Amino acid sequence: MTSNSTRTDSAYDVVLIGGGVMSATLGALLKLLQPDWSIGLFGRLDDVAQESSNAWNNAGTGHSALCELNYTPERADGSIDISKAVGVNEAFQVSRQFWAYLVESGVISSPRDFLNPIPHMSFVWGDENCDYLRRRYEALKDHPLFSGMRFSTDPAQLKQWMPLVMEGRKAGTPLAATWIASGTDVNFGALTHLLVDFLSQQSGFDLKLGHEVQDLKRDEAGTWQVSVRDLATNSAQKVAARFVFIGAGGGALPLLQKTGIPESKGVGGFPVSGQFLRCTNPDVAAHHHAKVYGKASVGAPPMSVPHLDTRVIDGKAGLLFGPYAGFSTKFLKHGSLWDLPKSIHMDNLGAMLAVARDNMPLTRYLIQQVLQSNQARLAALRDFVPTARAEDWELIVAGQRVQVIKKDEKKGGVLQFGTEVVTGASGTVAALLGASPGASTAVPIMLTVIRKCFPGELPRWDAKLKEMIPSFGGSLADRPDLCAQVHEHTTRVLQLEG
Ligand SMILES: Cc1cc2nc3c(=O)[nH]c(=O)nc-3n(C[C@H](O)[C@H](O)[C@H](O)COP(=O)(O)OP(=O)(O)OC[C@H]3O[C@@H](n4cnc5c(N)ncnc54)[C@H](O)[C@@H]3O)c2cc1C
Repeated sequence: MTSNSTRTDSAYDVVLIGGGVMSATLGALLKLLQPDWSIGLFGRLDDVAQESSNAWNNAGTGHSALCELNYTPERADGSIDISKAVGVNEAFQVSRQFWAYLVESGVISSPRDFLNPIPHMSFVWGDENCDYLRRRYEALKDHPLFSGMRFSTDPAQLKQWMPLVMEGRKAGTPLAATWIASGTDVNFGALTHLLVDFLSQQSGFDLKLGHEVQDLKRDEAGTWQVSVRDLATNSAQKVAARFVFIGAGGGALPLLQKTGIPESKGVGGFPVSGQFLRCTNPDVAAHHHAKVYGKASVGAPPMSVPHLDTRVIDGKAGLLFGPYAGFSTKFLKHGSLWDLPKSIHMDNLGAMLAVARDNMPLTRYLIQQVLQSNQARLAALRDFVPTARAEDWELIVAGQRVQVIKKDEKKGGVLQFGTEVVTGASGTVAALLGASPGASTAVPIMLTVIRKCFPGELPRWDAKLKEMIPSFGGSLADRPDLCAQVHEHTTRVLQLEG
């Protein structure tokens, strides 16, 4: 302890960087598994859940592949590949089990504070798309994870499922939709607050908001020395930690690069921003009760599939349409325009250039999206809501996503649209990169962090993990009996009967 730069101001077993749903979920899991561990959560903004996890910064879909067509691609022989859909659905069932445990154990008093049942629908037009949707339905309908799904091309049935979408629609174009009651709308911002509130009531937990993590280095003893700036007083602090989770959302990549671990080399990020049209007119919102997902345009990234969503935020129903993709060099909504340039290093430059070369349709799509007028946005909305009036809808800026760019032996670099857990330094640090399917799968993603970073503790934690997540360690898709049991139990506890 000789100078400010080497002094350690505080020490924790675990430091969580970022106040989003990922850090909050990992913190809650670890506190429940190991109550005597000390945990410090550092967030740069004045409240938690102000970036992507905020309710209006994401679409709030409990992603379970009930309606998202990008999870069921068509094979060359015309058959439908449902493997990704099954994986995404199963991951969501893991989140549901943990949330049900939190409700049953009193950590969360009412599931309605963050979760609402909303039917999930896929909606397409044109002969080819209708035929695809029928085949997708045939491939999914008998799978235990998709039971209850219905398909129709009958305009009267479609009108019953989605009156706002059918109102004023010209006859003559073939239409088709699937409908399933077991979909959800999740307020991930509210969930983050509930989890952090729980953590704040536990001994050995410190919440440090308005504190930006600026650097992290591992000392000779293997302890992480985390450099933090208190933004209110502009003072620097050093915090020691045995384990660090970089859950900084878009800000995770620069921090991962600062760790200097070999696993951080060659990794880059490509920011894609999003905008939604929002309608809070209760008369319009009352005519729609579903999340309706369409088909992506050519060149569009998978997360830019247009959808019209019922949102339930603070007990009030509203509508969200989008997302319209955009481009900004910021990695966080409250970030800096220097984020992208500063993330380009010699070790990831090649991969980033290769991605720029190989993704021209995406570049064209983003340019078209950035340049589109309000009229064009309204026209896209009217594909879903033919009677939409401009005055009922306002444009809002959503969260910022940073897609992962990785080195690739053949192509030089590839752009990934999923989430990726990067761990290193003997499992003493983990970072979460990417954004999709995102918050819905926070629990299984954080279980991956636990498996990778705490293998020695797992035998001791196994019983508690199975108490919290009965399917832990197994697969639901292969066990229809357990699948039905888990689904029935979580539906009841989370009040998702609809
Ligand atoms: C437009 C859009 C729509 C989406 N729709 C859905 C959806 O329908 N369903 C779904 O499941 N997922 C969806 N997602 C993804 C989901 O929002 C994210 O996966 C999830 O919120 C990420 O949570 P996080 O905790 O990793 O990051 P965030 O919520 O972004 O939190 C990051 C935190 O880190 C803090 N931070 C950053 N840098 C630092 C630093 N240096 N020091 C300290 N703190 C720092 C930030 O201030 C923030 O608190 C969507 C995302 C977007 C952008």
